[in-house]
Amino acid sequence: MRRIELGFHCNNACRFCAPGTLRTELPQHELAAIEREVSSIQTGDRVAFVGGEPTLLEGLPGWATLARERGAWSVMVQTNGRRLSEAGYAHSLVAGGVDVLDVSLHGANEAMHDYHTTIEGSFRETVLGLRRARAAGLTFGITTVVTRSNYRHLPEIVHVAHTLGARAIHLALVEAVGDAARCADQLVPPRELAEPFLARASARARSLGLVAVLGGDLAQTGAPRTFAGRGRAEEPVGGERRHLPVAPPSGE
Ligand code: SF4
Repeated sequence: MRRIELGFHCNNACRFCAPGTLRTELPQHELAAIEREVSSIQTGDRVAFVGGEPTLLEGLPGWATLARERGAWSVMVQTNGRRLSEAGYAHSLVAGGVDVLDVSLHGANEAMHDYHTTIEGSFRETVLGLRRARAAGLTFGITTVVTRSNYRHLPEIVHVAHTLGARAIHLALVEAVGDAARCADQLVPPRELAEPFLARASARARSLGLVAVLGGDLAQTGAPRTFAGRGRAEEPVGGERRHLPVAPPSGE
């Protein structure tokens, strides 16, 4: 997968944002650098445009077109999905050559999702965006960051993802990096409490015919091609990155 970073500017301000201070320090990459990167795509590449929030850059559909002209096999956008709520925007991505989205959804309802993004109304926009993406013919997976505030509701989030038309769901345990490192005690769930809910969410996904990927390295898990994985994070203070121990629930 060729990940093309478009910068870190974002219209959400998630409590656990791994890029953290990069959102203000490196809001947008040089357009010339992005175009150079896109121009180096080779036939058969799978491309993922990632941020920050890639849909905030007006050049995105055009870069997708250039990627296709260079022979990209697939063009993904990793997004919080809010801009997809604008009428016609999903169609403009499809017309540009985008075929897959990796969309973040962190709650089964407005209160739960907006608590994590800290942006009131973000759930409504993301849900409307996903409906419009589906209507435009885009395939998408859902990425959910698992925290103390949503781990008990993972089966419900799986249900919402399925209802909206997701092909797969990635349940990614929060890591204490970036903004999350500054409030890890409020965000990181006790592993022994989270694991049964991960197992239930996985079982719910299977019963609905949805692929569930539980944490870990996406490249190693044989995850479907709807996920771009986590990108660059703010450098951890003292050079130490703290992870929530990740182990698939028994039976996985
Ligand atoms: S986690 Fe993603 S959607 Fe949330 S603020 Fe950071 S870059 Fe934006």
